[in-house]
Amino acid sequence: MNAQCVGILLGAAGLTGCASVPLPREAASVGLERIPSKAVAVYQPKLVVKDGQLLLDGWVYRQFDALTTTQTHIDVSFLDASGRELRSELTNFEPRDLRRGTHKMAHRGHYTLSIPSMPAGTATIKVRAHDEPHVNG
Ligand SMILES: [Zn+2]
Repeated sequence: MNAQCVGILLGAAGLTGCASVPLPREAASVGLERIPSKAVAVYQPKLVVKDGQLLLDGWVYRQFDALTTTQTHIDVSFLDASGRELRSELTNFEPRDLRRGTHKMAHRGHYTLSIPSMPAGTATIKVRAHDEPHVNG
């Protein structure tokens, strides 16, 4: 269900363009942190509103010495002011297999995560590239 949603949003993103809509109050003050992995680096993500839906939207690129990026996914954690994890979600970037680019021209991957409801008390959203298969729990 979740993955399907993301797929539809990804498909629609190219058609709807990028209108600038003010963020809902609970999202406007949230900090965004990014943590790269060995294989994938993370550009500064942002929160956007698209078609009335709050989305986390961002880009990644392949690290220069990465062997592959197909195992890498994005873990998104919602943290409160004391750093406690309120919720965590997983999303994937497209394309999964980022090609190696020349210096400063790395091939980028794009991901989005829809956030139908921000956990109450969210202070920071942490976006982390994770190279190993994700195990829940
Ligand atoms: Zn993970």
